[in-house]
Amino acid sequence: MYRSQEETLFVESINQFFDKEINPYVDSWEGNHNFPSSVFETLASAGYTGILLQEKDGGLNLGYRYAALWSEAFGRVPSLGFTTGFNMHSLVITPTLARYGSKEAKEAWLNKAISGQAIGAYAFTEPDSGSDLTGIKTKAVKSGDYYILNGSKIFITNGKRASFVLVFARTSNEKSNKAFSTFLVNTSLPGFKVSRTLDKLGWYSSDTAELVFEDVHVHKDFLLGAEGDGWKQAMSSLEWERLMLSCLSLGGINECIKSTISYTNDRLVFGKPVSSYQANKDILLSFKAKLLLARNMIYQAADKLDKGEYCRKEVSHIKRFLCEDAFTMANFCLQLHGGYGYTTEYSPARWLRDLRLNTIGGGTTQIMERVLVKEIYS
Ligand SMILES: Cc1cc2nc3c(=O)[nH]c(=O)nc-3n(C[C@H](O)[C@H](O)[C@H](O)COP(=O)(O)OP(=O)(O)OC[C@H]3O[C@@H](n4cnc5c(N)ncnc54)[C@H](O)[C@@H]3O)c2cc1C
Repeated sequence: MYRSQEETLFVESINQFFDKEINPYVDSWEGNHNFPSSVFETLASAGYTGILLQEKDGGLNLGYRYAALWSEAFGRVPSLGFTTGFNMHSLVITPTLARYGSKEAKEAWLNKAISGQAIGAYAFTEPDSGSDLTGIKTKAVKSGDYYILNGSKIFITNGKRASFVLVFARTSNEKSNKAFSTFLVNTSLPGFKVSRTLDKLGWYSSDTAELVFEDVHVHKDFLLGAEGDGWKQAMSSLEWERLMLSCLSLGGINECIKSTISYTNDRLVFGKPVSSYQANKDILLSFKAKLLLARNMIYQAADKLDKGEYCRKEVSHIKRFLCEDAFTMANFCLQLHGGYGYTTEYSPARWLRDLRLNTIGGGTTQIMERVLVKEIYS
C-alpha cells in the first residue's frame, strides 16, 4: 500500500507515543481487568481525540485514511479492549456528537469529550435484540420539553466509565426505519443505572456493561438530529465502526505474527528453528499475503469514505473475512508456540482471546454476509 511521507511520519510518531505512554502499562491494565480513565486525557492532550473532527469543532480534520492509519497502528497495542474503548470514544462517538448534536449538546459535551475528561459510550444492543436492531424495546416518549426513556442495553463498551451515552431508542411503534432516534444521555441523570459489568473471555481491561433506563428525563436539546434520524445515523456510524474494528484486527494480527516469527526463529525443535520448517513458513507466508490484500482493501474503503462515497459492500467484505481470518491466524501462531502458546507468558493467547470478539462486535460475520447478499443480489 502506498503511503506518503507525511503518513509514514504520522505512523512513526504515534508508534513512539505508544511505546512511551501506553505499552509499558498495558500488561498491568490487562492483569487488573481495568485501565485508568485518565489515559484518555493523555491521548487527548496529544491531539488523538481529534483525528476525525473538523477544525471548527476543535479537531485535526485528518479524515478516514488517517483514522485507519491510526487504528492499524493502535491495534498493535496488545489490549484490544482498551484500544477499542478509546477508538469508540474518539473516532465514533465524539464525531457523531459533533455531526448531529444540537448547539446545546455540543456546548455541554464536545470540549469535555475532546479533552478526554468526559468519556462516551454508544448503546444499541439490548438483552433481547442485537443483530436485529429493529427489535429494540428501549422507548423514548415525548412529554413537553423532555423525552422519557425506559429500557435496557447490554454489552456496552465504556458503559461503566461513561459520562454520557448515545442511546439508540424507539420513538415510534411504526414498522419503519423512521421509528428510531438517538439521544445523548448524561449518566448522572436520575433513573440511569449501570446494573452490572460482564466478565468476558477477552478484552479484559475494557468495561462492558449492562445499562438500565428508568424514566430518565432527557431534554429535547439532547436528541441528536431530528426525531426519526436514528437509523440513518446508526447505519452511517456502523459503516466506519466496522472498518475501524477491521483496522484494529489488522494491526493486532500483524503484531501477533511478528512476535511468532521472532519466537519460532529462536525455538529449536529436532535441532532446527521451528521457523525453518517449510510447512510453517508456507502458512505464515499465506497469512502475510492475505493481510496485504486486506490492507489494500481497507485503505481503498477509507479513501472512499473520505470522498463521501458509499462503501457498505467493501466494508462488509473486509470485516467478514479479515476478522474471521485474524482469529484463525492467531490460533496458528499459538500453535507454533507449543505449550508456551497456551500460557499467558506469550502474546498469542491474548491475541486469540481479543481478536475473537471482532467477529461479533459491530455486527457479526453472519450479519456481514446478510448485508452482502442484499447488496449483491438485490
Ligand atoms: C465485548 C463486547 C463489546 C460490545 N460493545 C458494544 C457497544 O459498545 N455497543 C453496543 O451497542 N453493542 C456492543 N456489543 C454488542 C454486539 O454488537 C452484539 O453482541 C452483536 O451485534 C451481536 O448481537 P447479539 O449478541 O444480540 O447476538 P444475536 O443477535 O442474538 O445473534 C446470535 C447469533 O445469531 C446469528 N444471526 C443473527 N442473525 C442472523 C441471520 N439473519 N442469519 C444467520 N445468523 C444470524 C448471529 O451472527 C449470532 O451468531 C458488544 C459485545 C461484546 C461481546
